[in-house]
Amino acid sequence: MEIQTNLHRTKDEIAGACQRAGRDPGDVTLIAVSKTKPIELLQEAYDGGAREFGENRVQELLTKIPLMPKDVKWHLIGHLQTNKVRQIIGKTCLIHSVDSVKLAGEIEKESKKKGIVTDILLEVNVAREESKFGFLLEEVEEALRSIRIFSHVKVCGLMTVAPFVEDAEKNRAVFRKLYDFYVDMKTKNIDNGSMTILSMGMTGDFQVAVEEGSTMVRVGTGIFGAR
Ligand SMILES: *Cc1c(COP(=O)(O)O)cnc(C)c1O
Repeated sequence: MEIQTNLHRTKDEIAGACQRAGRDPGDVTLIAVSKTKPIELLQEAYDGGAREFGENRVQELLTKIPLMPKDVKWHLIGHLQTNKVRQIIGKTCLIHSVDSVKLAGEIEKESKKKGIVTDILLEVNVAREESKFGFLLEEVEEALRSIRIFSHVKVCGLMTVAPFVEDAEKNRAVFRKLYDFYVDMKTKNIDNGSMTILSMGMTGDFQVAVEEGSTMVRVGTGIFGAR
């Protein structure tokens, strides 16, 4: 019950942020980040209307997939090791956390074997935090040029995990920077026009992220409670 209340409040907050920014709420996808949470709670969110779920570990994702309804769309949002790629190909609607050309190459190889195209985002470490995965902004363009030759990987956009801050306003500049960069990349058309997703914003800062142009927010704690 509480989860559904949280879900609806989160959607309202997304709608509020859209209104402030003059955006259409239909342009923002909410991902319910269910990592570490038991399947009963995912089912509760599903019953409340959630269809897009995010997990950060390959094994946990693979365990949960058969336990949930078939129309769930699964997002892999956590760091992916090349040796885990084979297991995950064909299971996700989107891999958010591609942080090297080598990893994209592995996804290409395994997707080709299965005869499918895998949708990915490139993770960008906008704030240049030592502890975080992701390309630095200045590395992204070259990576896009390398990956665009792959025929079984489609770069659908960019993702970032902003710094942990008490005051979400402190991340506004980070989100704005990635949004501007994203628009720049689209203008240059390096991606052949397939970049349409900007995955940014978590429980603590998704409203600011939406105000700054996010098209996909990843909310865990705000829906399922503390981990
Ligand atoms: C856990 C996680 C989230 C959700 O975090 P909350 O603060 O609980 O909303 C979002 N994105 C990534 C990459 C995560 O690992």
